[in-house]
Amino acid sequence: MNTGRPAVAARIKDNWCELVESVKQSASQAGRSADEIRIVGVTKYVTADHAIDLVHAGCRHLGESRPQSLWEKSEALREIDGIQWHMIGHLQRNKLRKTLPLIHCLHSLDNLRLAQSLADELDTQPPRGSLPCLVEVNVTQDTTKTGLPPTELPKFLEQLAPLKRIKVIGLMAMSTLHATSEQIRHEFAQVSELLVAMKLRFESTHDLSQLSMGMSDDYREAIAEGATIVRIGSTIWKGVEP
Ligand SMILES: *Cc1c(COP(=O)(O)O)cnc(C)c1O
Repeated sequence: MNTGRPAVAARIKDNWCELVESVKQSASQAGRSADEIRIVGVTKYVTADHAIDLVHAGCRHLGESRPQSLWEKSEALREIDGIQWHMIGHLQRNKLRKTLPLIHCLHSLDNLRLAQSLADELDTQPPRGSLPCLVEVNVTQDTTKTGLPPTELPKFLEQLAPLKRIKVIGLMAMSTLHATSEQIRHEFAQVSELLVAMKLRFESTHDLSQLSMGMSDDYREAIAEGATIVRIGSTIWKGVEP
């Protein structure tokens, strides 16, 4: 069953190191330091074994887009110290209770009902204190996509202000699928500008500093436009059977 495991682990390590190097390059081209950019390794395509290989390669921040998969993987990796899990996809309210204690950060906050349930649940989980969250915005023309339209963002941030256990740390966004590099940069630039505007407006309420944007096909554009967190899956798993 484990045939080829060392070879696969080596491949994952190579892919990871290549990615780290490429992120460094993109940062330097943008006149930024790579230290400002965190890579979240998205494990949704692979088994827990491969996720462990990725941790051993040096990735400490892992992301899953479905609660169930996050539960399973975090259980399988529970004995490894220092892993921080990121919930990057939609979080249903009925999955909150079980998910909350496992995660370091939620990337997909986009409605008040979820925020209120989160806040209530955090009240019953005192050791946790607060949860770092990113508000997901949709700057594409695609209204079927998840995320808040930018016009609704100020009101949402106002509504979040009294929910002290929700620690809003910034914004998350995705670009239009298969868009040109130019269009992608334009969209990410919009998110970046939104962050600057919201930072000013909510200076005394929220500490907004993070931009979670950029996946395997568009992290270079995202870094050029100020991303501080990139969420990378496919690139890490190139040549690895799920
Ligand atoms: C799957 C996923 C990613 C990673 O995408 P890749 O293109 O495989 O790098 C990033 N963010 C979210 C929200 C995802 O669901």
